[in-house]
Amino acid sequence: MEEFERFDLTEEERMLRDMVRRLAKEKVAPGAEERDKKGEYPYDMLELMKENGLMGIDFPEAYDGMAAGMIAHCVVVEELAKADAAVALIPSCQELGSLPIILAGTHEQKEKYLKPLSTGEKLAAFGLTEAKGGSDVAALKTRAVRKGDKYILNGTKMWITNGGVADTYCIYAVTDPDKPQHQNASVFILEKGMPGFSVGKKESKLGIRCSDTRELVFEDVEVPVENLLAGEGQGFHIMMKTLDFSRPSVAAQALGIAAGAFEYATEYAKERITFGKPIIRHQAIAFKLADMSMRTTAARQLLWKTCSLLDKEGKDLSRIPAETIRHSSMSKAYCSDVAMWTTIEAVQVLGGFGYSTEYPVERMMRDAKITQIYEGTNEIQRIVIASTL
Ligand SMILES: Cc1cc2nc3c(=O)[nH]c(=O)nc-3n(C[C@H](O)[C@H](O)[C@H](O)COP(=O)(O)OP(=O)(O)OC[C@H]3O[C@@H](n4cnc5c(N)ncnc54)[C@H](O)[C@@H]3O)c2cc1C
Repeated sequence: MEEFERFDLTEEERMLRDMVRRLAKEKVAPGAEERDKKGEYPYDMLELMKENGLMGIDFPEAYDGMAAGMIAHCVVVEELAKADAAVALIPSCQELGSLPIILAGTHEQKEKYLKPLSTGEKLAAFGLTEAKGGSDVAALKTRAVRKGDKYILNGTKMWITNGGVADTYCIYAVTDPDKPQHQNASVFILEKGMPGFSVGKKESKLGIRCSDTRELVFEDVEVPVENLLAGEGQGFHIMMKTLDFSRPSVAAQALGIAAGAFEYATEYAKERITFGKPIIRHQAIAFKLADMSMRTTAARQLLWKTCSLLDKEGKDLSRIPAETIRHSSMSKAYCSDVAMWTTIEAVQVLGGFGYSTEYPVERMMRDAKITQIYEGTNEIQRIVIASTL
């Protein structure tokens, strides 16, 4: 196993990172403050992602993806998140929303739905959470009842990223309530505009403010049987494996936020003079920066190792080893905790200016918080980690 674990980038990954780093600096960073204020979905940034081929970095080649691997995907997300975490969420959510199809779709389903997702021509959303408690996934209530060659869906989802802008939705619904909770649900592919399928109001959020987060409502939505992924009862397994593969992407988003805040605070600390010297020469500030350097470097190594473990696994419904599941949860929890800590400290390094919306670190601090919450809170990650020990 050891020979597969990766701690550095290949030449191709380095070139990709440098390209995205430039793009983020020149085209993404300048509008970040404005996008945060407006809180509207950034279609111009979506176009930028599409033009530069960043929507399907780790999607299968047979379905128009780049198949460049998890490290490449995470490097792209990290570089974008250094400039704007909400823009990094564009390729990240595309991956999350498409993974159930990648893992469990038939050739026909992939031809029809995955190809336009790989290129970004269409957008994906992942519909798992409901209002009654997202962490307890197996207790969810959206119901699908088979009637002839259709399933009739009723229920609501909450907090769905891309809810109002997506075209293709992977929705988790109970198909057999009499079965035990981990065997009673299935995943369906829904399309925007299906009769009875509507979206609720856009949530107003603390951070990632331009990302579109909404409620989804299903009222007698007729879904053809050919839109069922794998078989009835496979839903819990599909959604959990999706999350094992997608949590590194949240980790990469968090790492980018942390790295962006660390870089900004370091440059600021070299310029800001108090008591006759740059504040980086005051040990209290220097030690904060040293800790930021230490933690972001450690976080990146954990993330890349996780990606290399996941890259060994089949993107199908086979079971993943406990060690790999543990790494996926460890990288999500660790990178996001590092992002939260780093951004709070970066605000402190900038003093009063850190608290102003004219400097990016307060936005980074607000954006960091979501990475400790979505795709399973960090409490849930610790439950997963502990359960594999
Ligand atoms: C901006 C945003 C975007 C999102 N995007 C999506 C999306 O695209 N698709 C989707 O399906 N969902 C999405 N979510 C939902 C997200 O994954 C859930 O909010 C998250 O999993 C937590 O669920 P909850 O909010 O119901 O919290 P709850 O489950 O109610 O948890 C509340 C608190 O209790 C803690 N807790 C719960 N159970 C336990 C336990 N057993 N032990 C210890 N502590 C526990 C939690 O850690 C948390 O601190 C999004 C959420 C947000 C805010």
